[in-house]
Amino acid sequence: MATATSIETVPSYIQDAWWTPADGARSTDARDASTGEVLARVSAEGLDLAAAVHHGRTVGQAALGTLTIHERALKLRELAAYLNGRREELYAISARTGATKIDSMVDIDGGIGVLFTFSSKGRRELPNANVIVDGPVEVLSKDGSFIGEHIYTRIPGVAVQINAFNFPVWGMLEKFAPAFIAGVPTIVKPATPSGYLAEAAVRAIVESGILPAGSLQLISGSARNLLDQLDYRDMVSFTGSASTANLLKNHPNVAHGGVRFTSETDSLNAAILGPDAVPGTPEFDAFIKSVVTEMTVKAGQKCTSIRRAIVPNGLRQAVIDAIGARITERVVVGDPRAAGVTMGALASLEQLADVRSAVETMLAAGGELAFGSLDAPRVTRADGTVDAVADGAFMSPVLLSWADAEAPAVHALEAFGPVTSVLGYDTHDGGDVSEAVRLAALGAGSLVATVCTNDPGVARQMVTGIAAHHGRVLVLNREDARTSTGHGSPVPHLVHGGPGRAGGGEELGGIRSVKHHMQRTAIQGSPNMLTAVTGVWHTGADRTAAGSVEFGAVAGAVHPFRKSLAELRIGDAFASGLRQVTLEDITAFANSTEDTFYAHTNAAAAERNPFFPGIVAHGYLLVSWAAGLFVEPEPGPVLANYGLENLRFITPVAAGDSIRVTLTAKKITPRVTDEYGEVCWDAILHNQDGEIVATYDVLTLVEKEDTLYK
Ligand code: NDP
Repeated sequence: MATATSIETVPSYIQDAWWTPADGARSTDARDASTGEVLARVSAEGLDLAAAVHHGRTVGQAALGTLTIHERALKLRELAAYLNGRREELYAISARTGATKIDSMVDIDGGIGVLFTFSSKGRRELPNANVIVDGPVEVLSKDGSFIGEHIYTRIPGVAVQINAFNFPVWGMLEKFAPAFIAGVPTIVKPATPSGYLAEAAVRAIVESGILPAGSLQLISGSARNLLDQLDYRDMVSFTGSASTANLLKNHPNVAHGGVRFTSETDSLNAAILGPDAVPGTPEFDAFIKSVVTEMTVKAGQKCTSIRRAIVPNGLRQAVIDAIGARITERVVVGDPRAAGVTMGALASLEQLADVRSAVETMLAAGGELAFGSLDAPRVTRADGTVDAVADGAFMSPVLLSWADAEAPAVHALEAFGPVTSVLGYDTHDGGDVSEAVRLAALGAGSLVATVCTNDPGVARQMVTGIAAHHGRVLVLNREDARTSTGHGSPVPHLVHGGPGRAGGGEELGGIRSVKHHMQRTAIQGSPNMLTAVTGVWHTGADRTAAGSVEFGAVAGAVHPFRKSLAELRIGDAFASGLRQVTLEDITAFANSTEDTFYAHTNAAAAERNPFFPGIVAHGYLLVSWAAGLFVEPEPGPVLANYGLENLRFITPVAAGDSIRVTLTAKKITPRVTDEYGEVCWDAILHNQDGEIVATYDVLTLVEKEDTLYK
């Protein structure tokens, strides 16, 4: 074991520089989970938290604000690729936390994967801007001169993460990615026992040189008065115990000062076996596999681990036997650096003591030991020898069975280790599984549940019954058993969080989690002013149209299809003249497309239809003609039309009516990495009486500079 004098202190990264406390500062030892060796000291004593927060709010906000959402998203991709190249060194450090290779993959590769996902979602689903328009425009005056809508802009402070010990890398990156896309600087405070791994990841990130100044700071060590520095401009995302979450929630700056606070806390996640999923079915096998995986990955120290296996009473013993058999066959406890080990140590001896004590409390409260034991297990050491060890935080998987499925302790106590309880339920008349639903809900709000059944009726009753008590529900059956990402793996696209005991947070959830770092504001004003604020053209705002002077074009204006992105402005438009639709046109279109629906071909039937005056033109004929009316056909900077959105047919067009089109550049999104960008055009079709016939958006790709055909 190393001597205390040779031990270094884990540094913090504050104000874009590494910082360590003065000699003699009070510190905590971080130890190797398997051997007890002291690896480092951890201390934040003397760290200027106020300066860190100020740095984020000023330097970080300014640097991030010079980039658009897409530019930040691209930096995340670059960072993810860079970290991929440094995985091996992080794996080696991760093993000291007790993590096996698979555990480390979940933490390290999982974290890098979140960066990739947010990078691509940010570029696909958000504008290349710093203002996000949320939802449709509300017209607030009769003449359309006063409108309202909602916009998102980033919060003006810092995003503080206070993290749990179990996923030092993923836990950091899954919160960092959405904050970064939103443009909010992050301050990370990892948990003390495994903070040295978070520090190694931050060191790699800093060495990459990819992030702007002030966008990421790290506090290594306890920072009990961090919230004293925060106000309504800032947010805190907490992961850890419910008791710490409650303490922080009641901090005056949260309770009265407006600090945004979200938390992910204890969760007694359930897996429910349907009555149809008897032994021999693929669902039974998938259920057993899932429970054992969740008990043993990360030695059960996962916020999403299955704590309660809720199974039909008649299958209880079969489930216990199958879980026991699979553990016996597959689980080898030991130092994760030893060959063949499939379950590592808990994070620390303190954590081991907490888990044992929770199991003892459960045994005293009615739980029976159905598999495993609380005795120190014989484990495989790094050198391959097998022994009982006192200095490593090892524990055997433990399965408890409960005669009383409603015993309060099993629904309230989270043993944060390789521990699961089996609870039985009875099915009632007509296959009613409400008893299972009720048991799952006794967890008082959980992160995730698995419903394992191949019966659609059971799936419907269980999922609709438990959904409001959960953040996520996985329906597992033979069709997705092989492809499912699993009960315990939050995916960045979907919500990771849960109500009630689980803390009420939504750390992930795709673009939703980016918006958690932003303020939604209702803005009201004229179309011109809202166009200026959002960078998106609004109906009623000024436009400069080429085309038919009769319909609003300015003589001599250039057709917008002749303009590259360098020249095109929102509000640049084209207004066509009228084109008459004849019965022959409608008949010819019906014949060539074979769309001979009666409204276009059978006058008597069409007249009986309450929506039509008689034979009417096909909507697709009108949209096709509109393209002919607005197009500027010569080769130029417009490269492709890649779709239509929001198409609505409003007024039918009968034979003899005429249509015209107005096309207006509504949203321009240059692609950061390409020589072209996207232009969304507002298209509106009118008839000869000025009535609106159809509205839609046309999506095109346009060159940044007019080079290809010049
Ligand atoms: P804690 O709640 O003790 O600690 C979590 C984080 O909060 C750590 O970074 C800790 O820092 C910090 N912290 C603690 N007190 C304060 C405070 N007063 N002010 C500011 N920061 C504070 O949880 P543990 O890490 O010990 O984990 C214990 C339990 O949390 C587990 O047994 C499990 O039940 C639950 N948990 C839930 C998870 C989830 O995602 N839902 C994930 C992991 C754990 P420091 O380490 O420096 O004390």
